[in-house]
Amino acid sequence: MRIKNAEVYDVRQGFVKKDVYIEGGRFVEEARCGGGDAARGAEQIIDAAGLYLIPGLVDIHFHGCAGADFSDGTPEALRTISAYQLENGVTSICPAAMTLPEDALTQICGNAYAYALESGPLPARAALRGIHLEGPFIAADRSGAQNARYVRCADIALYRRLQEAAHGLIRLVTLAPETVGAEAFIRELHREVHLSIGHTACDYDCALRAFEAGADHVTHLFNAMRGFEHRAPGVLAAAFDAKHVMPELICDGVHVDAAAVRVAFRIFGGERMILVSDSMRAAGMGDGAYMLGGQWVQVKGRLATLADGTIAGSVTSLMGCLRAAVAAGIPLETAVRCAAYNPACAIGADAVCGSIDAGKDADCVLLSKEGLEIQGVFRKGVRIQNSARPI
Ligand SMILES: [Zn+2]
Repeated sequence: MRIKNAEVYDVRQGFVKKDVYIEGGRFVEEARCGGGDAARGAEQIIDAAGLYLIPGLVDIHFHGCAGADFSDGTPEALRTISAYQLENGVTSICPAAMTLPEDALTQICGNAYAYALESGPLPARAALRGIHLEGPFIAADRSGAQNARYVRCADIALYRRLQEAAHGLIRLVTLAPETVGAEAFIRELHREVHLSIGHTACDYDCALRAFEAGADHVTHLFNAMRGFEHRAPGVLAAAFDAKHVMPELICDGVHVDAAAVRVAFRIFGGERMILVSDSMRAAGMGDGAYMLGGQWVQVKGRLATLADGTIAGSVTSLMGCLRAAVAAGIPLETAVRCAAYNPACAIGADAVCGSIDAGKDADCVLLSKEGLEIQGVFRKGVRIQNSARPI
């Protein structure tokens, strides 16, 4: 297959006008593709003149959507959320488990592994690239929409039991570095799994120690942590000083002010920022009351709150967050990188997804230049039906 005449996002060059070749579900170099298609007969050509072609987005921090939640721990829930994500241009997912008891987390991890083994009809779903454990090793006083009742100290043995249930699918763990055992946890595990600072009351020094010990990620920068002050610079400044660290940002127009989005991108640059949706089951469902991690959440427009007014997860897809970043003044090529390539790198999945490069899964999205509306989604080179619903 050849997609021709689009303005294609290239990680090294930004947007360039070129043809993209797909064979066997992967992006290929032109020469290789030509031979293969000729051998099989007519080449399928899609004329994408006037459109952008970007890599499929990679959401490494969201909980659910379309009425289902990863923490439901059922195959149906994973099928629902991965189908919805795919329709919205998110071709790879690393959903986040909430802070829950061990038996629930074991079920969630085992369910994800069982789902990953499913050989269901491709390509109607986003690819499951991993699991993000958002807790339970967080700070009870910064639990946000996580249920503080299930918070516990960093526990290497518990992590290993969960990773065993997940058959190695856990790629990212959010923890609070000031809690008992957290530093030892980071030192012991940072070569096995990506570790993220989040839901934390830690100060600059504590955050920097965690980064020096091996943590390399920040969970939803600004949210559920101390702010930046000139004599108490906090996680933001520690992440700035530790150059290997990649911070997430929930850019849904609710969690972070547009001016703070601009500041974060200016501080960290397009090579480090990661856009995440942090969406919950109400995404795509409209206004109403929904259960999130055992707590009721009220949704009105783009705002989802607990009974006490705490902002819960978002109801915006990652593609909606990409548009919000662009509306906040972030260049499109930077926003695309931060919603596709950077998150793929952050969970070690950049060999298979995150950019339009030969050898990777042929996951990509056609966008209109006006409004960045989805005009087509491809997963492993197959065009998804109904993939033009703007969220
Ligand atoms: Zn969170």
